[in-house]
Amino acid sequence: MGRHTQAACKLCRREGEKLFLKGERCQTEKCAYARRSYAPGQHGKINVRTSEYLIRLREKQKARRIYGLGERQFAKYFAVAAVRKGATGEKLLEYLERRLDNVIYRLGFATSRQGARQMVRNGGVKVNDRKVNIPSFQVKAGDAVVIAPKMTALAKSALEKFPDKTTPAWLSLTGETEGKIVAAPKREEIDTNVAEQLIVEYYSR
Ligand code: SF4
Repeated sequence: MGRHTQAACKLCRREGEKLFLKGERCQTEKCAYARRSYAPGQHGKINVRTSEYLIRLREKQKARRIYGLGERQFAKYFAVAAVRKGATGEKLLEYLERRLDNVIYRLGFATSRQGARQMVRNGGVKVNDRKVNIPSFQVKAGDAVVIAPKMTALAKSALEKFPDKTTPAWLSLTGETEGKIVAAPKREEIDTNVAEQLIVEYYSR
């Protein structure tokens, strides 16, 4: 299945909150969720009976959509997190955060993860002086990320669009088009509105 077969804004409306999938537009009054904060479709305004299973499912779907991943890809991250030492939910978020496309987005070189993914795919990003065009590439502490010359205008323009964006503590913006991975992200440094324990419970059912 494709990564995003539905329009991004419908995903926010489905999850009942802003997932910030469209960059600049999400901050404006054009935001579809701000205008219609109910689920899409004919029965969107009807309250659906909820259950523990549904709550966990929705949390998993929300996280998957925030990071723009397919069902199988997301399940793979969970499987890897589950066999690592430490809290599975936190490990899961750490792996999602350490994706190269997410790092480009967090550093502010793209206004959305989707934009960051395009940038990586199009050969616009180097890690430790080597071109990496795999959005899922896992960065690690000490890695240096640089935007290639053909994408610098795009990266600078993204930075200018969100001048107040704060760089998370595990990353460092070392230049207009450069960043560094300071350490692996800790849970409290990950600004993602996800209750990871519910995702663990979803997969443990
Ligand atoms: Fe979600 Fe952004 Fe669309 Fe608003 S504009 S509904 S936050 S993707």
